[in-house]
Amino acid sequence: MTGNGRQSDPPAVRGIRPPLVGVLALQGDFREHADMLRLLGAEAREVRKPSELDGLDGLILPGGESTTIAKLLDAYALRQPIREFALSGRPVFGTCAGLIMLSATTVEGGLETLGLIDVVARRNAFGRQVHSCEADVEVDVLDGPAVHAVFIRAPWVESRGPGVAVLAEYEGHVVAAEQDNVLVTAFHPELTSDTRMHEYFLARVRAVMVAPSQSKDECLQRREGVVS
Ligand code: GLN
Repeated sequence: MTGNGRQSDPPAVRGIRPPLVGVLALQGDFREHADMLRLLGAEAREVRKPSELDGLDGLILPGGESTTIAKLLDAYALRQPIREFALSGRPVFGTCAGLIMLSATTVEGGLETLGLIDVVARRNAFGRQVHSCEADVEVDVLDGPAVHAVFIRAPWVESRGPGVAVLAEYEGHVVAAEQDNVLVTAFHPELTSDTRMHEYFLARVRAVMVAPSQSKDECLQRREGVVS
């Protein structure tokens, strides 16, 4: 597969330039996301300041520590530019702390999230005793076997609005979801060799590269209800 599109992509996607995807690089496992994007033929750019969002086709918020990421977002004046980026309709993908940052709010409160997907996140949801675990999780939108999901002090989706599609559950809790152009997983696909979640995200990025205006309108209409 090359970054210029796969045989399975619609004809309009073949032949366009490789997607340029930003990875928020304030804290956390941003390097692993960038490596996986490059492996899949996309270009990756570490994002630490607002101008580095310019020209991106998609954005990933990595795992890490959401309290720290939230503080750094403000210190680097990135909060509003990231919100505007997402509201432009371009795809955004958050893993673990990235899920928390994209959520409308958290059960625990006290964290200013970005309010870009209509879910309430529960932090450290699997209990502080068991800080990490691995499990096979069926992800609805992926072909092939279950994803071997790595959870590290992971959140889950405690509740969600009607516009949110559930993509995966583990032990009865939502661990992957999407709403319009925003995709979240409680687990860390970037820490495994399974590239399918990132391929799914890149397919969405390419689709918006081909038809940007349509996704923007849909996104703005539906996002009005999400609390920030
Ligand atoms: N527990 C972390 C938080 O609350 C998330 C952990 C992770 O991203 N692996 O932000």
